[in-house]
Amino acid sequence: MPITVTPLANLDERTNDVRLRTAALINDEILPREGELWPQRQGAALSDEVRARAREARDEVKEKVRAAGLWAPHLPTEYGGMGLEFLPHAYMNEILAYAVGAAGLFGVVAPNSGNQKILAKYGTEEQKAKWLLPLIEGTMESGFSMTEPDSAGSDPRSLKTTARREGDEWVIDGHKWFTSNGKDADFFIVMCRAQDATGEEGRSGSMVQIIVPTDTPGVDIVRGIGIWGSPTSDHCEVIYRDVRVPLDNALGRVGQGHEAAQDRLGAGRIYHCMNSVGQMWRAFDLMVERALTREVHGGLLKDKQFIQGFIADSYIDLQTARMMTIAAAEKVDRGDPEARTDISALKIYVPAAYSRVVDRAIQVWGAAGVSNDLPLSRMYLGARTLRLADGPDEVHRILIAKNVLRRYESGGSWDFAR
Ligand SMILES: Cc1cc2nc3c(=O)[nH]c(=O)nc-3n(C[C@H](O)[C@H](O)[C@H](O)COP(=O)(O)OP(=O)(O)OC[C@H]3O[C@@H](n4cnc5c(N)ncnc54)[C@H](O)[C@@H]3O)c2cc1C
Repeated sequence: MPITVTPLANLDERTNDVRLRTAALINDEILPREGELWPQRQGAALSDEVRARAREARDEVKEKVRAAGLWAPHLPTEYGGMGLEFLPHAYMNEILAYAVGAAGLFGVVAPNSGNQKILAKYGTEEQKAKWLLPLIEGTMESGFSMTEPDSAGSDPRSLKTTARREGDEWVIDGHKWFTSNGKDADFFIVMCRAQDATGEEGRSGSMVQIIVPTDTPGVDIVRGIGIWGSPTSDHCEVIYRDVRVPLDNALGRVGQGHEAAQDRLGAGRIYHCMNSVGQMWRAFDLMVERALTREVHGGLLKDKQFIQGFIADSYIDLQTARMMTIAAAEKVDRGDPEARTDISALKIYVPAAYSRVVDRAIQVWGAAGVSNDLPLSRMYLGARTLRLADGPDEVHRILIAKNVLRRYESGGSWDFAR
């Protein structure tokens, strides 16, 4: 079923134009060809020929995306992107996400896209030439290496990996895991705690991101960690032992590490929630489509009140999740500092609503719902993972409560109409 997109009266012409043209590509070029574009999702062993045909088909769609001027919405125009502002980008994401995995055909592939943004913002001209441009051209791959098995990812102050300055080199020692894209990456951006006895490179103990080519001696990609029952994945465990890179590989200043990570995550959370809304939308359409046609016990599913309840509850979940995300996005766009609290609220609410909608859609489809023939099982696992990635729910709850209590303790109260 295609996504239904019409111009919205409250949006400017450019945003509506981007939404409509994105929807046209999704509906005409991607949804009817999902099996051809991503044959591996059906779980079958693939011949080289099938792989090559799929790559060709994806390249064809990418060409159409470029021709439509919709390539790389996250990148500035000088790097071949759309230079799309924050709000239109968020609106584009919900439509893109309707076709699961389609973002890659529009030049947005995590973690490369996040690394591109960080390199564009914090990189020197030399770093941009060496790492950013090849990443954009697709001749290099990358990963972001922050989380560690021996310290809490939800408390970045506990990170243990060190970058010790020795002469004109950083010497990195540490143990990371869940470094996504680890198998294909040509370089990692590694979050480290700096140690510089001279103080010339900044205060010891401060966080710094360092670019580390994966073929540097001492970088040991131990394994792709199996997740959700799969024996392996591209989320890798990596040990850094006495890894030496030039001082120039620091991305931004020592002490800017957390700020850069927040840049990556802050606005990113709105984009991710708009992705979740787009995927919920697809799950919702699939659920209704099935309810209209599946006959059980002498009648169509659509006429059973249990199923009507699923549809109504999912409608409410989708509408609330979408409105919350757009309201927060508008606050971010206005520069309202309260957006921080709202982002935490939606980071908890939206993945949970997404889980509920997909769960009901799976139930309506029965066995087919958990099969690889439909995108629902992938969505289900993705929705669950979102509750702990990008800051687990509990950390966001703490932040909301702190902000609210601070306001009331200082004699004020919360203005929910703002
Ligand atoms: C598929 C996948 C891909 C990933 N990709 C990357 C990547 O590319 N790069 C990267 O660096 N990381 C990546 N991660 C890691 C992810 O960012 C971390 O898992 C996340 O930050 C949580 O850290 P943690 O796993 O160490 O959990 P912990 O910090 O150990 O937290 C465990 C649990 O403790 C609870 N908790 C935490 N703090 C509190 C508190 N104050 N009060 C009460 N309860 C609390 C929460 O329920 C939380 O889920 C990925 C993870 C997954 C699953």
